Amino acid sequence: MIAELTIDLDAIVRNARALAALIAPARLAAVVKADAYGHGLVPVARALAPHVDRLCVYALEEAVALRDASLDCPLHVLGPVPAADLDIAHAAGVALTLWDDATYARQAASVARRRRSPFAIQAKIDTGVARLGLPYARASAALAAYAATPEFDLRGAFTHFAAAEELDSSFTDEQLARFLGATRELAGGVERHAAATAAAMLWPQTRLDLVRAGIGLYGIWPSTQTETTMRGRGLVLEPALTWRTRIVAEHAVEPGASVGYGRSWRAERPTRVGTLPIGYAEGLPRNAGGAATVLVRGQRAPLIGRVCMDMAFIDLTDVPGALAGDGVTLIGRDGSTTISADDLGAACGTIGYEIVARLPAAVPRRYEGGPGA
Ligand SMILES: *Cc1c(COP(=O)(O)O)cnc(C)c1O
Repeated sequence: MIAELTIDLDAIVRNARALAALIAPARLAAVVKADAYGHGLVPVARALAPHVDRLCVYALEEAVALRDASLDCPLHVLGPVPAADLDIAHAAGVALTLWDDATYARQAASVARRRRSPFAIQAKIDTGVARLGLPYARASAALAAYAATPEFDLRGAFTHFAAAEELDSSFTDEQLARFLGATRELAGGVERHAAATAAAMLWPQTRLDLVRAGIGLYGIWPSTQTETTMRGRGLVLEPALTWRTRIVAEHAVEPGASVGYGRSWRAERPTRVGTLPIGYAEGLPRNAGGAATVLVRGQRAPLIGRVCMDMAFIDLTDVPGALAGDGVTLIGRDGSTTISADDLGAACGTIGYEIVARLPAAVPRRYEGGPGA
C-alpha cells in the first residue's frame, strides 16, 4: 500500500439524510460527477440511489458506467453530450440537458423520432454564471418550444448560482428572480431547480422543487461561511474520505542542507526528514510543500521542500519517536487532530472540491459500510 483512500459510505448516506431533512419538502438529487468528487462513482452511487430522487453526472460516460453497474435510478447528465453520442444517451434513458443550441436540439429530436420514444429533457437557463444555458431574457420562448416538441418530454428547467456560498451576496436573489421570471409560464408538471449545496443551506428560497447537492454529501462544506452558519444551526456533516500513507524513509539532515528539487527548502536546525511515497501524481498538490501539514502520531508535521511527482518530504523533528513505517494522515483524523479536505485545499491556495476531485481514480479506494454491509 502506497496510499490508502478509505470511504465511509454510511457517512455519505447520513449526510444525504441530513441534507434531505434540511430541504424538505424539496427533493434531493445527488451530484456524483468527477468520480463522485473523487470518492468513487459506482460504490457511492449505489449507496446513495435508494435515498435520493435521482443522480446527476456530468458526462455521458459516467451515466453509462452506472447503467453497466445495473443502477436503474433516474439519471440527469448535466454536461453536454456530443451529438454523435445522443443515441447512446437515449438508450441509457438519461435526462439530457439542453441549452440555447437549436441545431443540437434538432439533432436530439431526430434521435428520439428514430428511436420512437421521447427524450427526457432538462432545460438549462443561464442567469449569471455565463457558462452554459439559455440566456434568461429569452429563455421563456425556448422553453415553450421545447415543451411543444413532441419528441421531447420536458421534465424540468434549472439554473446554477455564481456566488451562493457567500452570505453577503445579493446576486443570488437577482439570479433567482431571473430564473423565476424565465420559467413563469412553464406548465405545472415541469419541475424547477436551482440550488446546489451552498444555496440550499444559506438561501432557503432557492430550494424550489429539488436541490442538486454534491459537496455536502461527502461531508465537505462549500465554504467557511456555510460551515459557520450551518453548524450554528445544528447541521452535522461527516467527512467521508480519509487519505493515509506511510513514512517510507526517515533520515537526519544538518543545518544548511537542502531537501528536494530546486533546493527550495534548507534546514535551519538539525532536522529529521521523513519521505512519503506519494506526490502530485497521487493527488498531492505540488505547492503543498512549505504550505500544508500532515498528521503523524497525532501531531502535525509540515510538508517541506517541493512535492515531487511520486514522493514528498515532511519535517519530523517535532514528532518524538517518529519512524519509517509510521502512518501519515493527509485528510482525516489522528488522535484529537483532524485535517479536512478544505484545510489541505486552503493551504495549497485552492478549495476542498479541487483536492478530492483530483484524487486519481487509479489510487485504490477501500469502502466501509454501504448497502452490502
Ligand atoms: C457540481 C454541480 C452541482 C453541485 O454543486 P455542490 O456545490 O457540489 O453542491 C449542482 N449543479 C450543477 C449544475 C453542478 O455543476
